[in-house]
Amino acid sequence: MVSLADTHGRHFEYLRLSLTDVCNFRCTYCLPDGYKSSGPDSFLSQSEISHLLVAFSELGITKVRLTGGEPTVRPDILSVVNTIAKLKDIEKVALTTNGYRLDALAGPLREAGLTHINVSVDSLDEDNFQKITGRPLLNKILTGIDKALTVGFEAVKINTVFLKDLNDFELPGFVEFVRRRNVSVRFIELMATGHSQNYFRKHFLSTRIIESYLHDRGWNEIAKRTTDGPAIEFAHPDYLGRIGMITPTAQDFCRSCNRLRVSSRGGLQLCLFGEGQYDLRPYLDSSHQKEDLKQKVAEALFLKPRAHNLESGAIGATHTLSMIGG
Ligand code: SAM
Ligand code: SF4
Repeated sequence: MVSLADTHGRHFEYLRLSLTDVCNFRCTYCLPDGYKSSGPDSFLSQSEISHLLVAFSELGITKVRLTGGEPTVRPDILSVVNTIAKLKDIEKVALTTNGYRLDALAGPLREAGLTHINVSVDSLDEDNFQKITGRPLLNKILTGIDKALTVGFEAVKINTVFLKDLNDFELPGFVEFVRRRNVSVRFIELMATGHSQNYFRKHFLSTRIIESYLHDRGWNEIAKRTTDGPAIEFAHPDYLGRIGMITPTAQDFCRSCNRLRVSSRGGLQLCLFGEGQYDLRPYLDSSHQKEDLKQKVAEALFLKPRAHNLESGAIGATHTLSMIGG
């Protein structure tokens, strides 16, 4: 099996593909004023996605996460999932969603071949949820999560951005939520992006306090496998679910990086906090361009930086995570 590698000894099996920049939510840390189109919305077509994924799978990518914007605003979401799931070397097809259509889509997504799903839920209180995301949809989303738990996904996870004074006080509620649900809630540390620096100064809170909270209550850290993502996870014998933390500023976060990102317009981004993208779109028109596309990706990878430079305030060119998918 071929494997994509960079000059720092890291291997890449995992591609995050953004399907659209459009989103119908207004999360205060991401798109506080809602999505604003800046020109014709020409997101990758199904056929371009197929050419892209065939090439990446031949380069050793086995896991794909679909993200956005909100990927389920695409009317063709089920066929996109199915196109990818049918590729022979792709073992996992995951989706990150705000969950607004999950009550209706959970079953069809699973049938289309989706294997893993992450739903973003920043509060378990309807008013607070609306305050953070701009939409009064918490109950509908929770119904969707319960539905997702019944249709046979390999994993259902919740992403919660940990926010000082906005949802940090809900930690006990989230822990209680996983007592009887086989869900992993993962608290993500707020990241500063070009458009959210004041917000970051006001609401950033280290997830370290979650670790002490869990330790004090009998939760234990689970040993990580090398193929696991960047989260540290905790389990407790009395709880069906798990609690995890994703801490991009942690030392060594980049050492285990196994991810590449492609934007909804076909830009290969080597690091979430990197500057610039490599335009793959000119290579996506036809299957005959596959070898050129593979070469372009392998060449770009030589330039992947060893680590981001977030600690010194270098946040890269990403204005909001809705542009590339988090
Ligand atoms: N719309 C989908 C969703 O919300 O799940 C997918 C795209 S969203 C950009 C992907 C993830 O990035 C979400 O879990 C969201 O909470 C997270 N996110 C967005 N902006 C962030 C920020 N500034 N810091 C940390 N996480 C962020
Ligand atoms: Fe939309 Fe996801 Fe950004 Fe919220 S975090 S505004 S749901 S893209």
